[in-house]
Amino acid sequence: MNRYVIIGAGNAGLEAASTLLDKDVEARVDLFNAEADLPYYRPQLTKIIDDLSKLKPVKPKSFFSAPGLHFHPETDVKSVDTAEKRITAGGKIYPYDKLIFCCGADPALPPIQNPGKARLFSIRSFADVQKLHVAAKSRRTAAVIGGGPLGLETAESLTRLGLHVTVYEIFTRILGRQTDNEASRVLTEFLKSNGISFSVGSQFSITGAHHIAPHGELPRQTDVIVVSAGIAPRTRLASECGLEVAKGIVVNDRMQTSLPDIYAAGDCTEWNGSLCGMWLPAGEQGRTAAANAAGETAVYVPKAGKMMLNLFGRTILSIGTPEPKGDSGQAVSFVNKKNGSYLRLFTDGTRCTGLFFLGQPAEAAQTVTVFGKPTDGTASPLNGFE
Ligand SMILES: Cc1cc2nc3c(=O)[nH]c(=O)nc-3n(C[C@H](O)[C@H](O)[C@H](O)COP(=O)(O)OP(=O)(O)OC[C@H]3O[C@@H](n4cnc5c(N)ncnc54)[C@H](O)[C@@H]3O)c2cc1C
Repeated sequence: MNRYVIIGAGNAGLEAASTLLDKDVEARVDLFNAEADLPYYRPQLTKIIDDLSKLKPVKPKSFFSAPGLHFHPETDVKSVDTAEKRITAGGKIYPYDKLIFCCGADPALPPIQNPGKARLFSIRSFADVQKLHVAAKSRRTAAVIGGGPLGLETAESLTRLGLHVTVYEIFTRILGRQTDNEASRVLTEFLKSNGISFSVGSQFSITGAHHIAPHGELPRQTDVIVVSAGIAPRTRLASECGLEVAKGIVVNDRMQTSLPDIYAAGDCTEWNGSLCGMWLPAGEQGRTAAANAAGETAVYVPKAGKMMLNLFGRTILSIGTPEPKGDSGQAVSFVNKKNGSYLRLFTDGTRCTGLFFLGQPAEAAQTVTVFGKPTDGTASPLNGFE
């Protein structure tokens, strides 16, 4: 019987566990998770600040009593002994034949001038959201630091809770990775029309506990400050046990780390120089790591980057690269005059290599199919858009 230990029961860890149970029916799988809650759908967190009851578990309770699976909630893996092939958790020692790190990431904190006494919130766990909910309820103003997808979702949730929200983005546009200047401008106008304010392209400092000041401006009073500025992979345990770590735990295409019989998957990893940071890729990496741990040969192949948000009743969709490619590439905008939906198309002159959509949710599925299709950018690939 093979003994597998998985550190972390987010999407990477859960997918790794179910893959191992499928592929190795004799296996003993010890799945450890530091959090007390049954593993939940983490991408929901920024959407439920105003209504905590919406949180949903990823797997039904019955999953955790599957034969061969030993789930250890609220149990931190404290150390890994790679020479003896065993880990320590909850005061006990567990041996392993194969070990998979799926321990996720912490929120990254940007270098903020003078954080002083400010209480900065960030969102990674349900416990974080519970704290933010209590702090924000019945308050009037909030500052969200970071205009990426999670920052914008946070802003919308806080707006629903009745706060007036300002998003602070030090780069020159919001959703900087998913838009060009024009698409970002259209999105900014839409969000402003829904009550969100922006301070974009400026450094800022935090003064005292409740003031934030864009460079050269007077401090503005704010009741709550939420930081949403990317992820910092959890690498401490991996470093301590001698694995190669750069920004994340370094893995190859098979999700193998630098030491034999140890794999890593999800937000804790660095694959091909890049971090994971997304739900579906984390699961895919978990499945790849587990298949290899179980003796198969599986390779991780990432899919084209796709981001989808729903804000104030509209779908925001971005696929591929938001810039024209090569000398004949184009960036063209189309609008559906009947309902205001907006499509920005990026091409290499012959096909769609990127797109940004802000519009009616019902049109999103059709929009997805445009990516990769032939177009020279002169006519809209979607009916009703001109
Ligand atoms: C607020 C928020 C919104 C998001 N929205 C989206 C979205 O809309 N779309 C999208 O694609 N992605 C989104 N993401 C990213 C996505 O949720 C992550 O990429 C995904 O959850 C990563 O899964 P993971 O299993 O690698 O890590 P995690 O989900 O972080 O799970 C890691 C688990 O390991 C546990 N752990 C850590 N150390 C130990 C230890 N020593 N011992 C035991 N357990 C340990 C942690 O407690 C945690 O439960 C969002 C993330 C956040 C935080």
